[in-house]
Amino acid sequence: MATVELKNICKVYDGGVRAVDNANITVNDQEFVVLVGPSGCGKTTTLRMIAGLEDITDGELYIDGKIVNDVPPKDRDIAMVFQNYALYPHMTVYDNMAFGLKIRKYPKQEIEGRVKEAAQILDIEELLERKPKALSGGQRQRVAVGRAIVRKPKVFLFDEPLSNLDAKLRVQMRAEISGLHTRLQATMVYVTHDQVEAMTMADKIVVMKGGIIQQIGSPLTLYNEPTNRFVAGFIGSPPMNFMTVKIVEEGGKYYAVENDFRIQVSGRYSEAIKNYANKEVIFGIRPEDLKYLDKEEKDAIPTSVEVIEPLGAETHLYVSTKKHQMIARIAPDVPLHVGDTIHFKPDFSKVLFFEIDSEKVIPFD
Ligand code: ATP
Repeated sequence: MATVELKNICKVYDGGVRAVDNANITVNDQEFVVLVGPSGCGKTTTLRMIAGLEDITDGELYIDGKIVNDVPPKDRDIAMVFQNYALYPHMTVYDNMAFGLKIRKYPKQEIEGRVKEAAQILDIEELLERKPKALSGGQRQRVAVGRAIVRKPKVFLFDEPLSNLDAKLRVQMRAEISGLHTRLQATMVYVTHDQVEAMTMADKIVVMKGGIIQQIGSPLTLYNEPTNRFVAGFIGSPPMNFMTVKIVEEGGKYYAVENDFRIQVSGRYSEAIKNYANKEVIFGIRPEDLKYLDKEEKDAIPTSVEVIEPLGAETHLYVSTKKHQMIARIAPDVPLHVGDTIHFKPDFSKVLFFEIDSEKVIPFD
């Protein structure tokens, strides 16, 4: 049983930087929670406060229901894996993994048992006598994780542990850490700026921006029901397209109008959009929800092809109207050239509208 709860947590650094503002997060027992957001959004600070490496300016932090604001890191029963794994270069893999237990005065046999068990879990039994310099990046990362596992902590904290690895290895380690989570049935909090890591690993994602939590939810909740433009644009790759449009009523029908197009608003926004007649709103559509048309049709967006990125299984198209740029995903076999005029129909069961000032999503029926 290991839960972590942040209640109205704030962090103001010397000099007045408000790095985290009123964070409320519940990490349930055995849950994998990912804190994600752009550089400087406060995710590392949040993690370091959970670890006890950073003082909490305001609010309460609970581990297993006990307030731990003033409990030193070594007494929190938490293990942290950092981005730069910081292995001791002069020690073998075995000694690196055993070190934390040795200084806590665990009996030799217990240490040996735990290191061997962790090495087996991580498939690094063959490497125990090597020094870190004789390991690949991925192997070093495994040792760093091993160092955390041997402690059998209540909670694992990960701070961008994969960002020093190349793209292929990152994908592999991502799967390994997910597998580890299942196997250890541990509570984990993981920080990354990479939304793909967040989407693929998390039970629950916390999206942060400028020290403020924007939304908390499962990966698919954030993808399908973002609460604002920031979350909508941050989650999903390639990102959601946004266009400023004016809502115009004509003969009882409502249209989203831009310089180059006029499309009837249908589907789930048919009613809700009526409140926005004669107002500007932001129209959001994901690349995967733009249907490529091989001829002009009504209620479609005419665009000019600017860049074609064939990826094999699909093609990404960078297209533009006179005012906006968009990305679309289409089948790989459509013959197209830069400069072609092509049309897209947005899937109105997926379209989102956002208010122009607050950038909050406009609720639909
Ligand atoms: P990154 O992905 O770049 O590590 P982050 O989301 O983890 O970013 P933090 O490291 O938590 O962000 O930083 C949040 C804010 O607090 C930033 O504006 C940062 O400049 C500031 N900050 C971090 N550490 C300190 C410090 N020791 N003193 C003053 N300001 C700090």
